[in-house]
Amino acid sequence: MNKKMRFPPELINAIAEGKTEMLSGLLKTGDGIIRQLDESEDRQWREALNLSIRLGNEDAMDVLLQGIKFDFRQIHEALLVAVDTNQPRVVKRLLDRLDQEKGNKMDVRSFSQAIFDHSIDNSQFAPGVTPLTLACQKDLYEIVTMLSQKGHIIPWPHKISCACLECRNGRQYDLLKFSLSRINTYRGIASRAYLSVTSDDAMLTAFSLSRELCKLSKKEPEFKPQYLSLEQLCQEFAVELLGMCRNQSEVTTILNSCGDESQDALDEQAFEEGIPNLSRLRLAVTYNQKQFVAHPICQQVLSSIWCGNLGGWRGSRTAWKLLVSMGIFLTMPFLCLIYWLAPKSKAGKILKIPVIKFLLHSASYLWFLIALLGESIIMELYRDKFASREQNILHNSFHMVWVVGFFWYECKEVWIEGMRSYLLDWWNCLDMMVLSMYLASFALRVLIMLKGYFLCHDDNSTKECAYFTQTGREDWHQEDPQMIAEVLFAVTSMLSFTRLAYILPAHESLGTLQISIGKMIDDMMRFMFILMIIGTAFLCGINNIYVPYVISPQLGRFNETFRFLFWTMFGVVNQEYVDMPDYVLAEFVGRILYGIFTLVIVIVLLNMLIAMITNSFQKIEDDADVEWKFARSKLYLSYFREGLTMPVPFNIIPSPKAVFYTLSQLPYRQQVITALVQRYIESARREFEEAKRKDIGNRITELNKAVFRMHSDMKLVQQLLIQGSGSSDAVTKDGSSILGKYIIGAKNNFKGFNGREDTSSSLKVTVHHDEEEAKVDSHTNLTQQNQVDQSGAEASEQFSCQSCQKKTEGNFIRPVV
Ligand SMILES: [Zn+2]
Repeated sequence: MNKKMRFPPELINAIAEGKTEMLSGLLKTGDGIIRQLDESEDRQWREALNLSIRLGNEDAMDVLLQGIKFDFRQIHEALLVAVDTNQPRVVKRLLDRLDQEKGNKMDVRSFSQAIFDHSIDNSQFAPGVTPLTLACQKDLYEIVTMLSQKGHIIPWPHKISCACLECRNGRQYDLLKFSLSRINTYRGIASRAYLSVTSDDAMLTAFSLSRELCKLSKKEPEFKPQYLSLEQLCQEFAVELLGMCRNQSEVTTILNSCGDESQDALDEQAFEEGIPNLSRLRLAVTYNQKQFVAHPICQQVLSSIWCGNLGGWRGSRTAWKLLVSMGIFLTMPFLCLIYWLAPKSKAGKILKIPVIKFLLHSASYLWFLIALLGESIIMELYRDKFASREQNILHNSFHMVWVVGFFWYECKEVWIEGMRSYLLDWWNCLDMMVLSMYLASFALRVLIMLKGYFLCHDDNSTKECAYFTQTGREDWHQEDPQMIAEVLFAVTSMLSFTRLAYILPAHESLGTLQISIGKMIDDMMRFMFILMIIGTAFLCGINNIYVPYVISPQLGRFNETFRFLFWTMFGVVNQEYVDMPDYVLAEFVGRILYGIFTLVIVIVLLNMLIAMITNSFQKIEDDADVEWKFARSKLYLSYFREGLTMPVPFNIIPSPKAVFYTLSQLPYRQQVITALVQRYIESARREFEEAKRKDIGNRITELNKAVFRMHSDMKLVQQLLIQGSGSSDAVTKDGSSILGKYIIGAKNNFKGFNGREDTSSSLKVTVHHDEEEAKVDSHTNLTQQNQVDQSGAEASEQFSCQSCQKKTEGNFIRPVV
């Protein structure tokens, strides 16, 4: 009885026409023997099973499954077809079948190892696609839930550089399949359905996944567009999930927790009463989730905290805001005194409001810059003193009061935020650089003063005493500490003004400009690299031409040639430098090289730079709103921390610390996130149902089901006809009304189809359409056999009158008999 079953040629037709009895006959089911399959005909058997599923013919599928021993891989493919056509019932039945086959120990992992299987190469599904990933990609929530309840998971792909045995084998076996299966797995993981069904905190998972995908797009540039589109999907999912919030308490709970409970508890301690920690929002900022941060819900929360209980601030006029800022700028020391004396008083509490805090800090910084300018003027007044050793260290050290304050401020910031997140912000790195340069400059000047003092008290070193106290500038060493200190101070005072850019995001158009300038500087860096290569090449070439000719006064020495070429870029140079009338050959080559240099630098490179800058400016401008809101949110968040209220020079004075504040709302967070996901799934389902109605593939599957149902109905009618020839009139009417219903159903199914579908899907339609017509033909034969002559005419009559009645119903009408 182990004889293998050959593939009967009539099988496909029997399935296509839905003749279940013929099918059972062909497979000889019912004798209790399950047939083995001939392996050479594997593809045909698969197609038979797939066809029965694709047509939605569940009876045929049952017969096939009962009579034949399909192996694991064949059922796997059938499962894919069932998922592809979105038939949860069929999926369930196939899963049960798999369970029977393997007992309870179904190996879920073997689904993902399909890349070693050559028999799937002819399948319509890409490598690495498992039923679960396919269902996820198509966002079929019901099937995803079913599969994950059955224990299916999507195993996280290994790292790209992974050297484990499995990855090595996969790569060696088939590199393309391996990479495709990776990207297909990520498609499943990054889908909305998988995120919402399987993860505890879908939003956080979406955040970290989007970061991961962004990294992957850099590590595996072959699939960069795919990874980036998946990343976009994750970002959008988090934004949509946030959009499901219905009330303020949900919003607060979501934004204030980021999953890690112990971290939450710690974070909350560092915050002032009334200012939530917004840890999820901070995480979104860290993970660069621009759309999430710029979402109206987040922006509203941020703005409301920013203005605190100064409700009128947001709506007030710009003139009023400027006036208040001016007032704060002028009265800053006085306000700080109030805060220091009574931080808990009403005035003290107002100063703690982030917007006021921001104004206070900006005012303090402006005072610092004014002090710097003032010192520069003083230096000019005492110019001859500053030229010698006689300068008074107090004349230009007033700014050090601020520098010490800034230093203390940065230390506190590191203490509060932690070293890692502190260094992640580029502004902090700039701050550190500037501060260390100020401190170095000051330390050098103090060093000179101390050296002068101590060396002059020592009798042995009168010469050195004279050097550090009396000598004029012309006698100093090149590396004299005072000269270094002066240069450092000059550079640092310039850099100090750049810090002013930090407060620009508070204003919309200035903030956008600042972001653009940042991007342009980024472009400049890359441009500089190319410029450096080309510049060095020409510097070397032109210099080498002129080196042997000592008569050439301008060229022939590296720094002279460099200066000449540098200023050529800006057109302010005398072109006759290259001329050497006595030596024709050298002059000729020199002129040619110089001409090429001018062309390359001025025409090609400078224009490229301009194009790059325009491009990145346009990019920022296109997305200006989101970019600005993101930058502003960063600024806002940096002022929401507690403990840095006092502006800079006054923060050195110690003051009593505020009390800690804890709040526990931990279990509620889980409830809220679950509710959001649930809401999201519901709305996604509704949307999906809507889309399903428009999807031609689904319509055809539904239509097939209807046609099969009609078959059985017509058979019933035929039996009735044969049995009761007396009451044939009633039966005929009954039969024709059934037919009419079906036609209406079919008609409604394709209502508005021409108008909406694009050409790409119409190809698919024609393929299925042939089958469709074939079935209609067979059905016509059936009716002819029945000799129901008027039915066609009556049906068309009914169709015309019913279709006008039901025109308003766009839905598919399922004929029920
Ligand atoms: Zn591996």
